[in-house]
Order: sequence, then C-alpha cells, then structure tokens
Amino acid sequence: MSDCIFCKIVAGEIPSARVYEDDEVLAFHDIHPFARVHVLIIPKAHVASLADCAPDHQALLGRMLLLAPRLAKEQGLDAGFKTLVNTGRGGGQEVFHLHIHVFGGGDPVRRT
Ligand code: AMP
Ligand code: ZN
Repeated sequence: MSDCIFCKIVAGEIPSARVYEDDEVLAFHDIHPFARVHVLIIPKAHVASLADCAPDHQALLGRMLLLAPRLAKEQGLDAGFKTLVNTGRGGGQEVFHLHIHVFGGGDPVRRT
C-alpha cells in the first residue's frame, strides 16, 4: 500500500531502527516508546489489522508472536515484557498495518 507508513519502512523509504528482519517479518524500535524498550513486530506484506487476517496468515502470526520473547530477551527484558495488538479504531489502532507492540522496562507504561 503506497500510503502506508509501515510499508514505507519495509521498503526503506522511511528510516527505522531495525532490530530484526527475515523474509516475512520486520521489527524496529517504536518512534514514541512508552517504556524503556518498545519495539514493533510487523509483517513485510501489508495486512491492515488482526481483524483482516485469514487462516492463511496463521503461520505468519505464529512467527511474529514467537519473535516477541526472543527480541525482548535481546533487548534486556529478562524480567518479562508486555505485548499489545491494537485492532481497529475502537481498539486504539493508529497505524493500519498489523503490528505487535513488545515493550517493558523502565518507568511504568502510560498505556497497556
Ligand atoms: P497503534 O496505535 O497500535 O497503531 O501504534 C502505532 C505505533 O506506531 C505507535 O506506537 C507509534 O509511535 C508508532 N510509529 C508511528 N510511526 C512510526 C515510525 N515512523 N517509526 C516507528 N514507529 C512509529
Ligand atoms: Zn502497510
């Protein structure tokens, strides 16, 4: 999607602080972190939200979720971390390209 900010990050048209990449998935630091560590895990292919996923996204979703503890550990969140998937406007989603927030550490978070 040409007007999608996360598709532009995947394409390298917008810079990001990448922490992980494979053929299907990208992870990078959130630009407005609400914890000491706050990364976003996204599919490289555009999917608007969790509500737009279909059964053929099952493996992709599993890959994304399994990446969360690995990245949290790499980022030093040894005591644990939070995951968050905002879905739809009523769910607080602002960027309509599926993403998993992985965050923790530091001061208490401002939203969960
Ligand atoms: P959500 O409200 O779940 O849609 O979250 C969108 C997240 O994307 C917010 O936490 C933003 O801070 C983050 N975000 C928006 N633009 C960028 C960007 N260019 N690089 C990194 N994170 C971004
Ligand atoms: Zn997109």
